[in-house]
Amino acid sequence: MSEKNYQILLYYHYVTIEDPEQFAQDHLDFCNSLGLKGRILVANEGINGTVSGTIEQTKAYMDAMNNDPKFAEMKFKIDESEEHAFKKMHCRPRPELVTLRLEDDINPHEQTGEYLEPKEFYKKMQEEDTIILDARNDYEYDLGHFRGAIRPDVRTFRELPDWVREHKEELEGKQILTYCTGGIRCEKFSGWLKREGFENVGQLHGGIATYAKDPETKGDLWDGQMYVFDERISVPINQNEHVIVGKDHFTGEPCERYVNCANPDCNEQILCSEENEHKYLRGCTHECRTHSRNRYVVEHGLSQEEINERLQTLEEEQQQIS
Ligand SMILES: [Zn+2]
Repeated sequence: MSEKNYQILLYYHYVTIEDPEQFAQDHLDFCNSLGLKGRILVANEGINGTVSGTIEQTKAYMDAMNNDPKFAEMKFKIDESEEHAFKKMHCRPRPELVTLRLEDDINPHEQTGEYLEPKEFYKKMQEEDTIILDARNDYEYDLGHFRGAIRPDVRTFRELPDWVREHKEELEGKQILTYCTGGIRCEKFSGWLKREGFENVGQLHGGIATYAKDPETKGDLWDGQMYVFDERISVPINQNEHVIVGKDHFTGEPCERYVNCANPDCNEQILCSEENEHKYLRGCTHECRTHSRNRYVVEHGLSQEEINERLQTLEEEQQQIS
């Protein structure tokens, strides 16, 4: 049996960081000295990161951070792992931790939705006149989400405010519950909802990652898997049952396997089975399949003849269907 000697940490903290550039540089050196790998964003408004390392390395990191008064309150979500979840260590300064494209930014310390612990969130999800809003990107929702949650018709999180304004009537007077991976996006989004005039707004404290590990909820009412921004790509949430909600991009069959479109100019993430990856040259459209720099073609060293053969097969199949 393989041993889980590694840990993956997910964390954020909204706190003023005076010189994000300098901080990011020093912090990168610190992380490298510990041997961590991962991705950390530093902004004037705080820090957001996910890193992997051995149990000792990650423990040393958490201790050091929590010993700094600035980050004493910072909470870590911890996943066990057999290996690193990243190839490199990045720590970069950013203007904001999460982007909602607001005229006036939100400071979650001043305005945010009610923090709901997993059990409260679980209860409220089942109440009447409740709207569960997924505050993530579309491809995250498509892999898994809370049962009954609304998938706002947006490509990315930053388009959410416009979507809410367009659907104001449907949302008004309702209890609105928001959730995201680790909670950082909801801090701002729920705060923004309150500023927009919605009164009854709750956010899942600690995000789906915390909900999954809660001994009482055990990830209940979650369908599919959770998308994560590291090499794992997806992780299980619901400990009681596993309902697959992901659909194969080409056939619509149940699928939880994400790949990037082989057209380097597209690079769109699509759910697709291994079989269909080969069949469709990992291209999300005909244009992507026939792109001159299609990565699948390069990786598999396909000749033009072999490409034509596969495209021909697809065309014949399509003609049979229509
Ligand atoms: Zn594509």
